[in-house]
Amino acid sequence: MYEDLKNRVAVITGGSKGIGTAISERFGQKHMSVVINYNSDATGAQAAADKVEQNGGKAVIVQANVATEEGNNALLKAAVDNFGDLDVWVNNAGMEIKSPTHELSLEDWNRVISIDQTGVFLGAKTALNYFKEHGKKGNIINMSSVHEQIPWPTFSSYAAAKGGVKMFTKTIAMEYAKDGVRVNAIGPGAINTPINAKKFADKEQYDQTVSMVPMDRIGKPEEVAAGAAWLASDESSYVTGITLFIDGGMTLYPAFMNGQG
Ligand code: NAD
Repeated sequence: MYEDLKNRVAVITGGSKGIGTAISERFGQKHMSVVINYNSDATGAQAAADKVEQNGGKAVIVQANVATEEGNNALLKAAVDNFGDLDVWVNNAGMEIKSPTHELSLEDWNRVISIDQTGVFLGAKTALNYFKEHGKKGNIINMSSVHEQIPWPTFSSYAAAKGGVKMFTKTIAMEYAKDGVRVNAIGPGAINTPINAKKFADKEQYDQTVSMVPMDRIGKPEEVAAGAAWLASDESSYVTGITLFIDGGMTLYPAFMNGQG
């Protein structure tokens, strides 16, 4: 499956843990060459790179802050210098800050927006310029969330950023469709990664999250990575501008599960 991915070159932002690591592992299994970006956790990124190479792919790790143009340029440079090209850019890096909105500082609002929304813009812009210059039918995947659709009180900056990612994805998918560039988003539900470690360590919060998932369980990072592999490959060749929800049914209004309402 997805044999066309062999030898393709991908950049994955935020790849030192969680979903980003799972995507790099999956791409490694397809013998792709991967630039694994990390912000501060070089050890995690190196472990992800080792897995890629054990699986038959190639990998380099690159420190960069996705909220900066220099950071994104460094990732592109690493792809071209090490692997000679760029085919797939995965804007995966993200973070969240919990705060009642009336107490949310401008600094924290800007921090979330700069990584989760502006970081996606900068990554996509960097990739689009490369694709344009080289006449490439490239592929961009943006990590959104069920919260591009489901409001999330006390996480308004995160929900605003992901809502922005949704419309940004659709808009550039349309803008570059005639160039053969495909742009899609993935909307994970509740996935077992470090971003949720504290919450899921608390049994009450864990059970409460599971109760919002019709499939009755938390998702695995590999299940999100499977969607990224499909979107990156030619198997999804007629798909652009979508958000692929990988959420066990979380976006299906589970409050109506038993016929309420
Ligand atoms: P995670 O915290 O395990 O990983 C996030 C990664 O992003 C980390 O490697 C972190 O270092 C990196 N990062 C943060 N700021 C960065 C910056 N400025 N520059 C470069 N890298 C940076 O979280 P995860 O669950 O693997 O999340 C990955 C993506 O999936 C995020 O965009 C997140 O919003 C999204 N998501 C996750 C879930 C979930 O339940 N885990 C649900 C919906 C969406």
